[in-house]
Amino acid sequence: MTFNPNRYHTMPYRRCGKSGIQLPVISLGLWQNFGDIDQKEVFRQTLYTAFDNGITHFDLANNYGPPPGSAEGNLGAILAADFVAHRDELLLSTKAGYTMWDGPYGDWGSRKYLMASLHQSLKRLKLDYIDIFYHHRPDPHTPLEETMAALSDIVRQGKALYVGLSNYPADLAKKAVAILNDLRCPCLIHQPKYSMLVRTPEDALLDVLDEAGVGIIAFSPLAQGLLTNKYLQGSIPTDSRASKEHFLKSAAITPELITKLSDLNELALQRGQSLAQMAIAWLLKDERLTSVLVGARNSVQLTDSLKALENLSFGKEELNRIADILSL
Ligand code: NDP
Repeated sequence: MTFNPNRYHTMPYRRCGKSGIQLPVISLGLWQNFGDIDQKEVFRQTLYTAFDNGITHFDLANNYGPPPGSAEGNLGAILAADFVAHRDELLLSTKAGYTMWDGPYGDWGSRKYLMASLHQSLKRLKLDYIDIFYHHRPDPHTPLEETMAALSDIVRQGKALYVGLSNYPADLAKKAVAILNDLRCPCLIHQPKYSMLVRTPEDALLDVLDEAGVGIIAFSPLAQGLLTNKYLQGSIPTDSRASKEHFLKSAAITPELITKLSDLNELALQRGQSLAQMAIAWLLKDERLTSVLVGARNSVQLTDSLKALENLSFGKEELNRIADILSL
């Protein structure tokens, strides 16, 4: 298999905080659609489409699947089969922080859990090291110092090149970043949930990270598919995430939300974009964001999302109209 020789010609890359790393402005997440329940040929094609278009960053976690661990296992098999010659062109991340195995050592933020989980992830991925290892969510019971020291030691051991934080609120992120700096293991990146429909990071987190020189990658930029045209008719397509009633519930798709999405869609069409493309572009207008981490059920969706790159700028009137719609 050969990859597109022009793959680095169109994708913009942004520097990740104050680090040596650059990320594609669109990265691919493997939370859904890459598990053992999914079709291997379909997700293999999605990975090819990603790499062919300059997406060098694939994001995982120990528990992605289903079943948990299978997204890492599936990517590991594809990396070994197809990407061996390109390993050094890829920036791969994984995480630990949510429930992974039974008993007191398979969850949260202890040194024991993080070390053991990364060990398992590397085996599944068939890799000697991961590029970024994240603590997936704050642990209210483990001292922050223990979790950060474990991350730092993982880097010292050569099992990860960089560390990141995810789902840490602004105040805790500030403390964690300071501890990591003291340990001489700077935090590369923070991964918060951020989209037109979830704007919590704007309260303080974006400023805190920017001041600290930490990169920012927004997860669920399409609000798990809400910010696309699939729910505009008021029905739930059978193959959609909402139809699975798991992470996205159909009850979330209220008539008020549909009105909001329809108004956004109208504006997107005026810009010559799909709603998904506008939602991605809207996040990237903020230069503090290093990347947006999209999900894609197939390569058609990913190709559509990539077209966001064709129009990343917004006029003042467009931004005001979006602010008005979102405030309703
Ligand atoms: P998105 O908000 O991008 O949602 C992806 C879903 O949107 C797809 O599965 C598909 O849904 C739909 N979709 C995507 N592109 C299009 C398109 N162009 N047209 C129409 N529909 C489209 O992201 P995710 O919620 O999947 O999250 C992305 C990544 O973020 C994850 O894979 C993971 O890496 C990371 N993440 C991190 C978390 C954390 O705690 N750190 C938590 C959650 C995610 P459908 O199947 O309905 O068609």
